[in-house]
Amino acid sequence: MRTRLEDNFRPADRKNLAQRGVHSVTDLFRFFPRRYLVPGEHTELGDLPLGETAIIQAEVIKVDTRRMKQRKGTITEVIVHDGTQSMKIAFFNQHWLGKALKPGLTVVFGGKVESFRGQLTLASPVWLNRTEDDHEWTPEDLNSPFPIYPAVKKIAQSRLWSSIKTLLTVAGPEEFEDPLPKGLRDAHELPDLRTALEDMHRPRTIEDVERARLRWKWEEALALQTEFAARKAKLADEKATPLLTQGAKSRRFDADLPFTLTASQVRVGEEISEDMAADRPMHRLLHGDVGSGKTLVALRAMLTAVDSGAQAAMLAPTEVLATQHFHSIQTFLDEQMALSPLLSDDDQVTVALMTGSMPAKERRELALDLVAGNIDIVVGTHALLSESTMFSDLGLIVVDEQHRFGVEQREALRAKGGDTTPHTLVMSATPIPRTVAMTVFADLDISTLKEMPAGPKDIATHVVPIVDQPAWYVRVRQLMRQTAEAGKGVFVVFPRIEPTDIEDPESGDVVGQKQGIEDISRKLSETPELAGLTFGLLHGRMSTAEKDRVLADFVGGDIDILVSTTVIEVGVDVARATMMVIIEAENFGVAQLHQLRGRVGRDGSSALCFLLTEMSAEDESYGRLQAVADTLDGFALAEYDLDSRGEGDVLSGSQWGGSSLRHLSILRDSEIVAEAKTIAEQIVAVDPTLEAVPALKAFIRRVLPEDDAHFIEAG
Ligand code: ADP
Ligand code: MG
Repeated sequence: MRTRLEDNFRPADRKNLAQRGVHSVTDLFRFFPRRYLVPGEHTELGDLPLGETAIIQAEVIKVDTRRMKQRKGTITEVIVHDGTQSMKIAFFNQHWLGKALKPGLTVVFGGKVESFRGQLTLASPVWLNRTEDDHEWTPEDLNSPFPIYPAVKKIAQSRLWSSIKTLLTVAGPEEFEDPLPKGLRDAHELPDLRTALEDMHRPRTIEDVERARLRWKWEEALALQTEFAARKAKLADEKATPLLTQGAKSRRFDADLPFTLTASQVRVGEEISEDMAADRPMHRLLHGDVGSGKTLVALRAMLTAVDSGAQAAMLAPTEVLATQHFHSIQTFLDEQMALSPLLSDDDQVTVALMTGSMPAKERRELALDLVAGNIDIVVGTHALLSESTMFSDLGLIVVDEQHRFGVEQREALRAKGGDTTPHTLVMSATPIPRTVAMTVFADLDISTLKEMPAGPKDIATHVVPIVDQPAWYVRVRQLMRQTAEAGKGVFVVFPRIEPTDIEDPESGDVVGQKQGIEDISRKLSETPELAGLTFGLLHGRMSTAEKDRVLADFVGGDIDILVSTTVIEVGVDVARATMMVIIEAENFGVAQLHQLRGRVGRDGSSALCFLLTEMSAEDESYGRLQAVADTLDGFALAEYDLDSRGEGDVLSGSQWGGSSLRHLSILRDSEIVAEAKTIAEQIVAVDPTLEAVPALKAFIRRVLPEDDAHFIEAG
């Protein structure tokens, strides 16, 4: 019995199969047709209806290849006969067919019925040499969907197909061990593995294929959710130090907050304190729209840790962000916990910032303070992860913008907890659609900040097509002037610093130049509408001191219009800015545009945002801009983004990127994913190491990469 790949394919073929990811019989069975030709009812040559797809079986009578007169290339004409009638079929530029289709062979052809010079023919049909196939073609076969496989170099479809069919009949039972439990299959009327494989490779009806496809989705959903459930169970076995809720410092902090917490902040705060009070580590994701108050939630959690005598560390992806967090935490604490003569030193909260650019000596001192327990809260970049950074008692880790860190990095920090595992809170700067949260982050518990502290923001957003509507651009500049004259600040956001060449996509020749940020700033300042106003420039190539000075001038009102790159995306808080003009807006992603405009109207006053573009309403990216203009709901935009970019994109950098999950769609299959989660949790609850379900275990290893870094591109 020829049950191995080696028995069916020569080494050269196996190399070509390997290029398509086929290394074993199991892989080959899961090498599914790309599509199917679904034949109509007629299979007699005499009675083929024009325009329909037909599958016919006929004998090759004559094959003739010649060069074409009018065009370059060859034409191969094949005359076939089915016992009563004949037909001429033409193939273009496939001269090798002369060798494959020999007179006398019985061949199955599938394709669309067309009329050519008054005679019926099939247009460039797919074909299969029946004589080479050990499978007898019955009239029923000719009415069955005809699979078309992805091309494999140097392996004819017919040979591939017949090998798969042969192997399906001779392969041993180990090839058909089903990763889906029988109870699940029965409940959802899913075919077992063998039936589903047969249905993919030799379906009787297209419904067979649909039914099998549903099964592949279930397999993947169950694999994913079981893996997550198993990881969660493993985490649950780790020991953590319970962190007391609401000690003196937390109480004092909350007591005179200048505002009331939103209902979401209260609820999420409770979710977090409940987790931290347990003796197993918290593993929670906090997400919410820009400005929903995540930082405050994180700070309250850190104070809970401090109250319990533990330290808290906050990890940020960039120095700018870390610095920003450090300052806002410090400001919050200064205001809330101002030194009172009645408080002893013990009642103070010490906060420190650790970054890579710190002088070595300072960093060494800070490291000593950390290990001595003199620091309660440390905010930092990757510097926190280095081996020289140690803690006296690390109780809580907050990871900001979690998608920018890999699991190894988070693990490095978690390992600094000593005997116990610190509690972990990861934050996402932008909202994550429910479907994504449920799949990509299924091993985390999820907290969502739903409402905005200041109520829904009022940022009227408009798309301005500057080529189609030049007058609107003039109007925008007039509004900029009015805003500046009213003492408010205007942001102009521009996508690049330096001018860049525009290359012709065909020739690669430089055909023009896109302006840099200085050009755009100068040009704007020279327009009649903006003449006489003060412009400032802000971008990432300026020194920190320069940036600080420019920002201070903008905050103080000495600069009317600040032309900036996306450095303002993170953390810049200028209460007097009420207008933003984003130039070449099509260069930014949906989430990023939403983040950017969150920088205006910070003081609660109504604000304006204009998305300038050279695109027209018909262009695809115009639709994205319109979507941003249409809603201020970051959750709705996140869903839109997922929908329009497609999950391939969204997940390209995620755990799924490295996986071979091919059938499950996180957009469309959320119900399957949700049900699979319940079942997976039941499986893991009784059998955490999956001993009783070896086929499922093997399938998980097959489709999910071992490295479990889960990233998600947020913008
Ligand atoms: P996020 O990190 O979610 O984008 P922040 O935590 O930076 O949001 O909060 C945005 C602003 O709202 C900050 O200035 C913060 O002090 C303020 N803020 C947070 N919570 C509240 C609240 N409950 N009421 C009023 N203002 C709040
Ligand atoms: Mg924040």
